Amino acid sequence: MENFDICVIGGGPAGYVAALKSALNGMKIAIIEKDKLGGTCLNRGCIPTKVLYSKAKFLNSLKSGVSGFHIDKYNYSYEDIINYKDEVVSTLVGGVSKLLKARNVSIFNGAAFIVSAPDKKNNISGVIKIQENNNNGELEISASNVIIATGSSPAMIPAFHIDHSNIITSDEILNIKSIPKDIAIIGAGVIGCEFANIFNEFGSKVTMLELLPSILSTEDKEISKFTNKILASKDIEIKTSIEVDNISAEDKGAIVLLKTGEKINAEKVLVSIGRILNTNNLGLKEIGVELDSKGKIKTDVHNETNIAGIYACGDIIDGPMLAHKASYDGIIASENIAGRKREKNYSVLPWSIYVNPPIGTVGMKEGDKELENIKYRVGRFSYGANGMALAMEEKEGFLKVITEEETGKIIGATGIGADMPELIAEITAIMHFNGTIKDAEFTIHSHPTLSEIVPEAVLDSIGEAIHKYNPRMFKK
Ligand SMILES: Cc1cc2nc3c(=O)[nH]c(=O)nc-3n(C[C@H](O)[C@H](O)[C@H](O)COP(=O)(O)OP(=O)(O)OC[C@H]3O[C@@H](n4cnc5c(N)ncnc54)[C@H](O)[C@@H]3O)c2cc1C
Repeated sequence: MENFDICVIGGGPAGYVAALKSALNGMKIAIIEKDKLGGTCLNRGCIPTKVLYSKAKFLNSLKSGVSGFHIDKYNYSYEDIINYKDEVVSTLVGGVSKLLKARNVSIFNGAAFIVSAPDKKNNISGVIKIQENNNNGELEISASNVIIATGSSPAMIPAFHIDHSNIITSDEILNIKSIPKDIAIIGAGVIGCEFANIFNEFGSKVTMLELLPSILSTEDKEISKFTNKILASKDIEIKTSIEVDNISAEDKGAIVLLKTGEKINAEKVLVSIGRILNTNNLGLKEIGVELDSKGKIKTDVHNETNIAGIYACGDIIDGPMLAHKASYDGIIASENIAGRKREKNYSVLPWSIYVNPPIGTVGMKEGDKELENIKYRVGRFSYGANGMALAMEEKEGFLKVITEEETGKIIGATGIGADMPELIAEITAIMHFNGTIKDAEFTIHSHPTLSEIVPEAVLDSIGEAIHKYNPRMFKK
């Protein structure tokens, strides 16, 4: 039986990054993937959705026009767009495979099951069984450490009768070859809103149905309202505080029955109500890996489980289900296995939502419990007052920054507007280094750029934005 320093289970952004990093750390690595390298992120998540997002955004500028241009005629083929999306995905997946091979990582295609855990005290490796794809049989390998990174899959509710044809999940919607005339989206969280934006741009009549009182309910309230206004202004029908009773497939579509008795017909129904964890059939129960009350694998600050030598990363552990967080988890596990003690800290963790314009957030936001005991100020700056935004005809949106009153430290930011995720990347870096208002002010920003919005919003928290009239300035 071949022995490895680390066996990584799952080839998504948690697993493949852990494998690449561990190979750089000089370890002998095996990675087991039952489907495609790149996991949800590259194959059916972040990347394919952003290809469609960027095409939908381009279509939006063709449709709504740009000052000085008169576009009389344009044409597109959705099938070609899907083919381009597949090209991007296969380029990136192929890149991951090449990198793994170049670092001498052994890649196994199949489903992994942990037969026995490593016994660190007695220096005995754990055993992992691989059910190889294409009926190639079973094989076993052993490893001194195991990193579990098996990710998540779309949640299914029996009453929603998902048939993967007319009633679909985010996995299938990325592969439909033509634009549905109408689409009902169940769930107005991040995934639901991103698809609503895409299919509305391509001409579907979109209806969103959300159980909670607002869309994007975990975001800052102002951002959620602003996004609602934008989506509604594009004729997306948004029904909140609405409970779906059941969904049934028809010959040419599906019917959504609401608890109120109302029926909604649509050619496609997208169910985007959350994700379930891929923690079954891995042998976790048998070897005694502990789960928390939400069914996530319990890990310590090193991403090690209750069993020494077994680590877990990505969607299956605590923290938000995000690709970059999954990769960060992978690096934390990898570094600790290599003997460099590193503790994870999610307090400065950014995220983006690709509606048009996009949303970005990092750290604390108004309404968060953690802010209750902190004296803070909020600064804001509008895209409409930024030269580059006007040049780009992107005047919609704003950035809000939260600074701590006592120290001037930047402790959070959120906003919506062109390239907002890139502006949030800058604030993330400042926050990573415990930066203050003065650090943002004295960082020189190239002109004209959207990034000039960052120091302005930060300074506005103390009434000192340069290009904004703020009555607070004159009270000093
Ligand atoms: C539509 C959509 C859009 C998204 N957009 C974004 C975005 O813009 N930004 C962002 O940060 N996040 C986004 N996400 C979330 C992101 O994709 C996930 O958080 C991320 O992929 C999680 O990484 P992971 O490695 O933990 O799991 P995954 O990416 O799910 O990878 C897990 C891998 O493990 C494999 N596996 C499972 N069980 C076994 C087994 N027993 N043996 C072998 N292999 C196994 C699976 O086949 C899979 O390939 C999006 C998700 C979706 C669905």
